Amino acid sequence: MSENIAKAGRHVNQSEGLIFEKSSPGKRGMELPPLDVPAVDAAKALGAEYVREGVEGFPEVSEIEVVRHFTRISTWNYAIDYGMYPLGSCTMKYNPRVNEFVARLEGIATEHPYQPVELSQGCLRVLKTLENILAEVTGMDAVTLQPAAGAQGELTGLLLIRAYLESKGNPRKKVLIPDSAHGTNPATAVIAGYAVENIKSDANGEIDAARLVETVNEDVAALMVTNPNTLGIFEQNISEIAEILHARGALLYMDGANMNALAGIARPGDFGVDVMHLNLHKTFSTPHGGGGPGAGPVAVKKILEPFLPTPVVVEKDGKFALDHNRPKTIGRVKAFYGNFGVLVRALAYALAYGPGMRQASEDAVLNANYIRKALEDVYELPYKLPCMHEVVFSDARQKKNGVNTMDIAKRLIDYGFHPYTTAFPLIVPGALMIEPTESECKEECDQFIDAMRSIAEEAATNPELVKTAPHTTRVGRLDEVTAARKPILRWKPGQ
Ligand SMILES: *Cc1c(COP(=O)(O)O)cnc(C)c1O
Repeated sequence: MSENIAKAGRHVNQSEGLIFEKSSPGKRGMELPPLDVPAVDAAKALGAEYVREGVEGFPEVSEIEVVRHFTRISTWNYAIDYGMYPLGSCTMKYNPRVNEFVARLEGIATEHPYQPVELSQGCLRVLKTLENILAEVTGMDAVTLQPAAGAQGELTGLLLIRAYLESKGNPRKKVLIPDSAHGTNPATAVIAGYAVENIKSDANGEIDAARLVETVNEDVAALMVTNPNTLGIFEQNISEIAEILHARGALLYMDGANMNALAGIARPGDFGVDVMHLNLHKTFSTPHGGGGPGAGPVAVKKILEPFLPTPVVVEKDGKFALDHNRPKTIGRVKAFYGNFGVLVRALAYALAYGPGMRQASEDAVLNANYIRKALEDVYELPYKLPCMHEVVFSDARQKKNGVNTMDIAKRLIDYGFHPYTTAFPLIVPGALMIEPTESECKEECDQFIDAMRSIAEEAATNPELVKTAPHTTRVGRLDEVTAARKPILRWKPGQ
């Protein structure tokens, strides 16, 4: 169906079997010289239980076949190094190579977490410097780098709130969560032992402060707000919301995974946030996808500092140490001091940008609004406020021809782009959630816009083409339910 593609830039499309299928008996990737020492019976020398038998069905292939096989399949993965990756909420920005260079330096990559503190001064300085930078960017008083991801940062943050309220005599019962929050927020609140109460957004997609006043009572421990929220909209009443909570002894938790819209521009600590997490694998450009590793540091105001996870990195007279003696701590949340290699990359990013972080945020917001304006005449825009780092459309217009957000996303693959986030946030039925990030130049954004406009036209004139996409990939549409319910994860001989 390639004749239907109006724009260039198709996805790499190759046909490659399994390595097992390439096997033919006697082929080998390498050859050893004949033994020039007496042969030893390995089973006798080592014990039979330590000696492996031949592996049934083990592929027998030449060296170049191995190299080509893995090189080819490596090109099937879509990557930010390959093209625009507009997966909303995930912030798939470019990971600058300088971060990788720094993380691999000897003295950083080769250190061991059990090294004595006297031999780890440089690594501890890395941690403390990053903590200080994150405290400055967020406007908070103290930071823990331990949590391994955003969701674990959320849990750490809520455990800090619980410990603080307990120390005041009552941990309280409920956490309020707007319907525009990220899905991890309610899950986190439940794991932290709180009941969740949903807060409805108003017609602008924001929290209704007037309604909130009626909801906050002595049972409420905190409000968890994603800001900018998952509609890509900044909560303009955030200071007033903080005051409403504080007046009743509740705290304000901010999910700061979207800090890439604010860094260098606005500081949550200045608008009333008590505790928040950051996603270094989003805002601070460390690699993500494929399950990690990531980092979800938590930044807090002074009142929560005594409860931070141990050990805490402390600095005295130019020397660094690890403080384990923190009587009010919630304890450790992660082995050692967090995902050190990720923290190093984030520090490299922060130091490379410096005050330029503000422009990165401004460019992220500019790109999202550029795309919003360029597509709002062909895709439904349910919430009309200018957006921050991402824009959320719906498939309402295309639905009339039976085309939904998933179909449009699949068709986007044919145009060479990674799909946007589909069907999230939940308050927008049939959502198309698009986050270009600041990494994309105008030309790449324009190509994406052309592709999206072209698909909108196809949805009107030839809906079947979109509904059966992708057409240019090695496999077509997969049965996602069966793939999730009955995954086949390894090849077995004869299957
Ligand atoms: C990505 C994200 C999370 C979860 O972060 P993980 O690192 O995937 O655990 C939480 N909240 C928001 C708003 C996010 O975008």
